[in-house]
Amino acid sequence: MAIELGLKTTNKKLAILGGEPINKKPFALANTIGEDEKKEAMKVLDSGILSGFLARYGDKFLGGPMVRRCEASFADYFKVKFAVSVNSATSGLHTAISAVGVGPGDEVIVPPYTMSATPSSILMNNAIPVFADIEPDTFCISPESIKERLTSRTKAIVVVHLFGHPARMDEIMAIARQHNLKVIEDAAQAPASLYNNKFSGTIADIGVFSLNYHKTIQTGEGGIIVTNNEKIALRLQLIRNHGEAVIDDMQNLSEDINVLGWNYRMPELEAAMAYTQLKRLEELTLYRINLADYLTDKLRDFNFITPPKVLENTRHVYYLYAMKFAENKIGIPRDLFVNAVKAEGVPLTAGYMRPLYLQSIYQRKRAYGNTNCPFACPYYNTIREYKKGLCPVTEHLEEKEIMTTNICRIPLSFKEVDTFVSAIEKVFDNLDRLKEYGQFKT
Ligand SMILES: *Cc1c(COP(=O)(O)O)cnc(C)c1O
Repeated sequence: MAIELGLKTTNKKLAILGGEPINKKPFALANTIGEDEKKEAMKVLDSGILSGFLARYGDKFLGGPMVRRCEASFADYFKVKFAVSVNSATSGLHTAISAVGVGPGDEVIVPPYTMSATPSSILMNNAIPVFADIEPDTFCISPESIKERLTSRTKAIVVVHLFGHPARMDEIMAIARQHNLKVIEDAAQAPASLYNNKFSGTIADIGVFSLNYHKTIQTGEGGIIVTNNEKIALRLQLIRNHGEAVIDDMQNLSEDINVLGWNYRMPELEAAMAYTQLKRLEELTLYRINLADYLTDKLRDFNFITPPKVLENTRHVYYLYAMKFAENKIGIPRDLFVNAVKAEGVPLTAGYMRPLYLQSIYQRKRAYGNTNCPFACPYYNTIREYKKGLCPVTEHLEEKEIMTTNICRIPLSFKEVDTFVSAIEKVFDNLDRLKEYGQFKT
């Protein structure tokens, strides 16, 4: 239920100028763990079985009862043949890239506007991240830019469904088919988002979901990998669970595959929680969409803010609500505006993430020791530059336009969204004073 704003915000001193903030108490944090999760956790503790894995081919290669139940429920929910649980989406991405055979000398195309683990999982396989630019409206990787980045070394593409909006999978899969490339979907932020009625994460060769505590459903830490390909599923299982110790006992394994494994196994407690949390995914997603739609409607009053774009035939699930700010329509820079709104006591962030190629790992090209491998190694005799200007759309969005907020989530309501909008309104109604302050500051 909406409450009327009815707040007279003109002639109220902005908090950034020493006035009273609109909101004095920070918004409540999310807690999605309820009675069902507690019961499931207690059952696991009572059973005394906290993990069912052994690094050996046989009964325990695929883990204990909770892990298997969790994987079956994810496979069923996402309508895929295989779900493989891991202990984070980062280990999931590492496993996925490894499972499609990416290794030294290979290039993998990836967007720079994502969490650092997306490209670093490529480096973990001694391969080279090649950054493609993003689209100015969906903020996901641009198919046109992917085409420009293709070389004879390109082996795979990692797409990110950023903020909960799916990337343009039709175009991306067409490029992949034409050039015989594998595609991995980083769907960490986008469980239950849809693209042409298919779940994000289930369209390409492999999809990876996160169960990190700040994602829509969570187990503290955790990840789920999905695929419809049986061979890939087996590789994922081997890489998750010390493949090198398992492979020799496997009969009938005719393929020559890489088997270097890690311990990326999910504990039984987390698997029980993941199973339980999955039952709430649709409810928590609709909750987010409901608040986001309400906010989008309210923001129509402010022509200098562009709400998130939702492409036709897609479902955006609003892990973050990302807006674009138009300095030329309001006459002040984004950062001054964001600071003024934040001072009113509501969560708003300027930008999302510095384009990842500007991180010092890419600038200095140091991933392991001091050898510059894998950027410079006998398998990779190409020089890859990560200069500023590499992805101009991303850089411009990050530096000037994007603002993000995380208010579209439980336990918040229309009331908090109204407070958020009042803060924006108050700043907008007092622009002249803010401009004077801005000039004084520079
Ligand atoms: C959170 C996130 C990850 C990493 O997830 P973890 O489970 O924390 O390892 C990877 N990619 C994206 C886009 C993310 O948002």
